[in-house]
This record gives sequence, C-alpha cells and structure tokens, in this order.
Amino acid sequence: MSNLDMKPPVAACGGRAGVTAEPVREVLEARHMPLGESTVVRRLLPNLGRRMVGAWCFVDHYGPDDIAGEPGMQVPPHPHTGLQTVSWLHDGEVLHRDSLGSLQTVRPRELGLMTAGRAIAHSEESPRDHSRLLHGAQLWVALPDAHRTTAPAFEHHAELPHLAGGGLSATVILGELAGAASPGTTYTPIVGADVTLAAGTEARLPVEPDYEYAALTMSGEAEVDGLRLAPESMVYLGCGRTELPLRADVDSSLMLLGGEPFAERIVVWWNFVGRHHDEIDRARKDWMSGTRFGEVHGYDGPRLEAPPLPPTPLKPR
Ligand code: MN
Repeated sequence: MSNLDMKPPVAACGGRAGVTAEPVREVLEARHMPLGESTVVRRLLPNLGRRMVGAWCFVDHYGPDDIAGEPGMQVPPHPHTGLQTVSWLHDGEVLHRDSLGSLQTVRPRELGLMTAGRAIAHSEESPRDHSRLLHGAQLWVALPDAHRTTAPAFEHHAELPHLAGGGLSATVILGELAGAASPGTTYTPIVGADVTLAAGTEARLPVEPDYEYAALTMSGEAEVDGLRLAPESMVYLGCGRTELPLRADVDSSLMLLGGEPFAERIVVWWNFVGRHHDEIDRARKDWMSGTRFGEVHGYDGPRLEAPPLPPTPLKPR
C-alpha cells in the first residue's frame, strides 16, 4: 500500500528520546485517511507523539470492508526506499506486482514482505475476482543504516509458525516470539505477531524486556495488560516487560508489534524512508524522471505521481 496523501506530513522519528524504558499503557487513536476513491484506512503509526515502535514506522489498518461488486483496493505503481513493507490480511486477497517482476496473490495469514532497500516500485490491487470482504493491515519497517541500500527483494511466506495454548493462538509474522521465528528476512531485532483470543481467554505472552511493544485491535475487543483496547486504537506498551497479560470476553484478535528501539534518526516522507532532505529529494526526482525504481508491468492504470516536497527542508530528529 502507498501513502496516497498528496500533502504527506513529515515524520521525523527514531532516536531513543521517545522510548519508554518502563511498561506503560499509552493509547493512540487512529486517524482516518482516504486511500483512493472508496477506501478509508485507520492510520495508527506515525501518530501524535509516537512515530515508531522498534523499527515499525507505519501502520495502517483497513476493513473489514464489503467490496462485492467494487474494485476494492487499487493502489497504482509507486516507489519505496529504505524500508520493508508487510502485507497482512484477515479477509480477502491482494495482488502484488513489483519492478522485480514479482506477481503474487497474498491471502489471509500469509506474509507478503517487500524489502525496498535502495529502490523498488510496486502496485497492490484486489484481483478482479475477489472475496466479498477485505480486511488487513499494511505496515512498514525502517531498515537500519547498514542495510538500507540493500538490493530490493520480495518474499511470500504462506507457512508461518504458530503458537497455541489455553485459548490463545498466535502467528509469528516477522521476527521471533516465544522461540518461534518467522522465515521473513529481518534487519533489526523485531517481532510482529497476530494473536487470536477465544472468548473467556486469559493468557500471559512471554516478551522481551529490551523490546518496546504496541498492540492494535484487529477484531473484537481484547484487554492488553488490563486495558480494554477499543477498536480503531493502538496501545503503546513501552519496554521492560517479560510477559504481557492478555484477556478477552469475546472472540478477539490483535496484532502485537515490537522490537529493539530504533536508535537511528530517520526522515519519513511520502513512501520514502531516508536520513536527510537531499536523499529524499533525489528519490523523488528519480521517481518523477523514471529512473532507479524500474517498471511495474501489468497494472491497469497510470502510476502515482509524487507530491511536491514541503517548502522547508526535511530534517531528521
Ligand atoms: Mn507501497
């Protein structure tokens, strides 16, 4: 998915200043953002006062939307640098195309992981023949300096490790949770997991004290460390936990995101993650001039144009 905002705000994030060393429960409300003509997504990261959780730097939650007889998701070709995108579905399917020539349908509970590295372009669309419901999340992971110009790559993992017990089941999307590791390539200590709680479940999930965490509701209404997490919100949990208490009165599912606090300062603008203004400016110019990012073949429609840069230079913080 792309940031389709034509006046994208500058998100300067990273560094350890905003990281909470102790466990906290800081509720972050979603902002509703239009994505194309018919879709509205709930943006949870970046959020006011909270730009990153570990290397996670962008989280959109969308649906469940009834797209029967409609085009559904139609995100034209657009570029990325310096990040990985994670596509995660609960319902429906997304057809991914990229400038490496990848053509892959991503289905519920399968990982679509695209490493942009120095440059990639992709499109995402609901296939013509698609399910009635579309429900999922699109997330970005910032690449650390040592790997941010790595060669672009796309991975599709249909088989992911599961943990289960006592009414809780979890799928490890990225990184490692309780000894179960996703096959997805990672560049920082990180975890992303999809956690399902049957009604009446109380559980304690083992977590890393050196990681910061956040959780967002996908469905139902789970309690995270005693806090009932309303739909359309995320709770930032800070660091310093060895286990995370979870419970649910109704069937619920949430995404747990965590990682070692990302120490580098970054600039996120439009679909680019960089370190300073000139680099973002270069990436934008390269996209506009049709160099560096390659071509996405087969998408029925024009590619996205980059919005203008803001009048003042972008600054990492
Ligand atoms: Mn994208």
